[in-house]
Amino acid sequence: VKAIVLCDYGKKMDSQNKKLVKKPIKGIENIRFLYLVIGAAILVGVIVNFQANAIWLRSFITNLRGDFVNYEYTQANHAAWNMEQEASAEITSIQTLANEIATTGLNSSQSVVFIEDFLKKNNNTRDISLIDLSGQETNHYSRETAYSQKDLQNFANLEQLVKALKGETYVSHINYTENAEPYVIITTPIKSSGEDVPTAILQGKYFLRGMWEIALEMKIGNTGRISVFDDKGMLIADPQPSRVLRKTNVLNLPPVRQIFSGNSWADIASSNNNISNLPGHNFANRTLTADTGVHYLNDKNVEVVGVAVPLNIGGMKWGVLVEQDAAELEAPIQEVSRWLVLFLLGNLGVTVILIWFVFILRKTNSKLIGSQYILEITRDRAEDEKNKSASIIANFVDPVILVNTSWQLALFNPAAEKIFSLTADDIGKKTNTEKGRFSFNDFKKIIKVDYQVKEFEKDERGFPVVEEVIVGKKTEEKKLPDSALTGSFKNELVYKVLTRAVCDGDNVCYGNMKIFYDLTREKMVDRMKSDFISIVAHQLRTPLSAVKWAVGMVMDGDAGKVNIEQTNFLRKGYESNQRMIALVNDMLNVSRIEEGRYGFVFTKISFQEVLNNVIASVEGLLATKHLKISVDKPEKMPELYLDKEKMGLAFQNILDNAIKYTSDYGDIKIALKLIPDFLEVRVKDSGIGIPDADKNRIFSKFFRSANVVKMETEGSGLGLFIVKNIIEKHGGKISLASIEGQGTEVVFTLPLGQAKI
Ligand code: ADP
Repeated sequence: VKAIVLCDYGKKMDSQNKKLVKKPIKGIENIRFLYLVIGAAILVGVIVNFQANAIWLRSFITNLRGDFVNYEYTQANHAAWNMEQEASAEITSIQTLANEIATTGLNSSQSVVFIEDFLKKNNNTRDISLIDLSGQETNHYSRETAYSQKDLQNFANLEQLVKALKGETYVSHINYTENAEPYVIITTPIKSSGEDVPTAILQGKYFLRGMWEIALEMKIGNTGRISVFDDKGMLIADPQPSRVLRKTNVLNLPPVRQIFSGNSWADIASSNNNISNLPGHNFANRTLTADTGVHYLNDKNVEVVGVAVPLNIGGMKWGVLVEQDAAELEAPIQEVSRWLVLFLLGNLGVTVILIWFVFILRKTNSKLIGSQYILEITRDRAEDEKNKSASIIANFVDPVILVNTSWQLALFNPAAEKIFSLTADDIGKKTNTEKGRFSFNDFKKIIKVDYQVKEFEKDERGFPVVEEVIVGKKTEEKKLPDSALTGSFKNELVYKVLTRAVCDGDNVCYGNMKIFYDLTREKMVDRMKSDFISIVAHQLRTPLSAVKWAVGMVMDGDAGKVNIEQTNFLRKGYESNQRMIALVNDMLNVSRIEEGRYGFVFTKISFQEVLNNVIASVEGLLATKHLKISVDKPEKMPELYLDKEKMGLAFQNILDNAIKYTSDYGDIKIALKLIPDFLEVRVKDSGIGIPDADKNRIFSKFFRSANVVKMETEGSGLGLFIVKNIIEKHGGKISLASIEGQGTEVVFTLPLGQAKI
């Protein structure tokens, strides 16, 4: 894998164009659509909510405004009705007075009593006049002022006179006193019952103060006021009398204009005085749905909402105007609007939270899908790795076998399958590993092919970490070169087997692996070498013995007298032949050891015997080199089970080395010591020592350290190999400690009993 490109889900790398392209992951589209639907649903919900609230609010506000205006109308109508009631009562009482005068006689004192009585009772009608049919005022009665004859007026040809003569009651236009107090003149005929022509005419001055009081008394909110205007739009009554006195005209105000343009008064007139049926007065039937009142600026430049209703006083086209500050009317509407705005803001907040929530959800989901995606990639990669590892193992030419932590066969490669005849059915079978000690012998239950196991190295727990396995070859899978086929190797494979725990970087272990290295060829070559040496040695032994015998005889003078010079030459030849024999013997011993033919015969003897023999044999050498030898031994030497001859050979070799590699006048110390179960033998010299780099190869075949090669002392490098074998075959161990230039100490042990042999 060269690179992994991890992109936002929904995109992938277009390998050809080297850019990100959209490629949705499975299921992503559905989730996106779901979020789209949720988002759209929320949006639609919010819009519908807004719309519903807007519609509701619109009608609510319209109704509210309608209600306010309705109230204004109600109040205006109420005032108008009261005023008309009062006016008609006044007119009726004047007509009644005229009737009383007609009954008692125009000039009777009783009539005067009636008139004075009337003036006392009626606050609003102050002046009463009697007028003859020519229009001349004959009598004038007043509450305040006394009238003289010359104050009497002539009303001939005036409209009121014409109407009265026709027998009708007449109400004049508005007039004003010197104090600008408005009044109307009411004229009614005085006629006896049953007669058509009046005898005289009764006229009263009706002051409109009553209307004023009605206008003052009625309350409409805090800012509402009621005013009355006449047929010319002049204010007749108002809560602020100054407006009346200033002769304020309201004709131009929209509600006033509205009623002047219609035929409101005509309707009232034709309704036959049945006030409750008049259009302007019909509270019940009035439709107000679209009538939200007229907004305008009043004379104080304040925005007001006003309504006007007609007021019919004796046929006069007057009106009642009700005004209220728009601010007061709009206050509750604004209040409601404020609440609504709050409500909508709340709504908006909830929407924002919802959308935020959806967004978070979407993001979380994205992350989830993202991690799922990463997981998939990781899994793919792990799978790839696994496949890679598996193919590496599969391609091993030598067997590899893995067991899991439950000691079950978990994996093997084709090589293992072939060589050990394993099948897929064997996977999961348990090895007979006990207490976690994992040897290849534990597979004997599973592997049916014959094999032998030798344990070479163990770890601190006693696990065999290096084993040698010899597999009896039933099928000729592996062809060895014909020339190499000797003896039992024809049917055998030899493996070095390493055991390793399989753990990851976090020290989590999955099991143990047996890795096989094919040593068959090496072993075969080794064997060939041994065979060769063995043959050569065997072949050399006889002629060397013959040479030894012949030279010995000549030297001894058996073949005639030899002089000293000749004897010296012969001795050199004899000694060289002896060394040759020793070398051949060593080589033969080595090949016997390797072939397993190095037979041992153990007898119970004391090591003292071996020691004595060997020391005796080297005494000459010691003397020649002026070496000092000391032996330190326990008082009572134990008897051991030894192969006397081979042990002698081994000890001889060790001592020979100590002598060989120690310069003249050196020391050799032999120390014997009883340690538990063993006799420990130490041979220490003060010789040239062994270089550190060579120490671990000292016991191998043919190895000679670099420093001794330089000294050119004789040797084959086979001695210690044979020694190690002999000591180990006795159940002992051998080791070596040395400091180059200072000396060497060889230590070996021999068991005290037979058990360890
Ligand atoms: P060799 O025939 O060379 O002595 P050995 O197998 O006996 O062969 O010994 C192997 C080598 O070990 C020697 O060649 C020498 O390098 C080293 N060696 C053995 N014993 C001693 C010793 N006492 N002091 C120094 N080197 C020694």
